[in-house]
Amino acid sequence: MNSEGTLRIVATFEAKCRQCGCVFPHPSLGNFAYGETILASTNGKVFAIASAFEEFPQRISNEVADSSQFWRVLAALADPVHGSNLSPELRCSGCGSIHLEYWEGRRIGEASVQMATFTAASRLTEDALSRLIRQVCDESK
Ligand SMILES: [Zn+2]
Repeated sequence: MNSEGTLRIVATFEAKCRQCGCVFPHPSLGNFAYGETILASTNGKVFAIASAFEEFPQRISNEVADSSQFWRVLAALADPVHGSNLSPELRCSGCGSIHLEYWEGRRIGEASVQMATFTAASRLTEDALSRLIRQVCDESK
């Protein structure tokens, strides 16, 4: 299944950065998004929704021994959004810090968020993919 370009409307909530103090909106799927999460770019400016139930993520879930690493691995394998790599952590859109004072605060509005795609990673050989998955898991230890 290729969901490239698919956009979803997602509610946005207020977050505040502990590092630089800026207040910014971030999209959230809330508590009812079973099997889905929002990935954020490492500069905190763009987002993508990842679903555990699509073909490629399903393949990855079989390869990731430690399921707590699943979203981290998926984020690392996702195609960059507007040139930015993705991570499972919400980051400040001002300074990129992961140290937030709060998030999912006041509801602000909504934003369209694209579905994460895995075009590049899905073209890797099984070996290369396994190596990459191991590397991501090791890095986060
Ligand atoms: Zn900040």
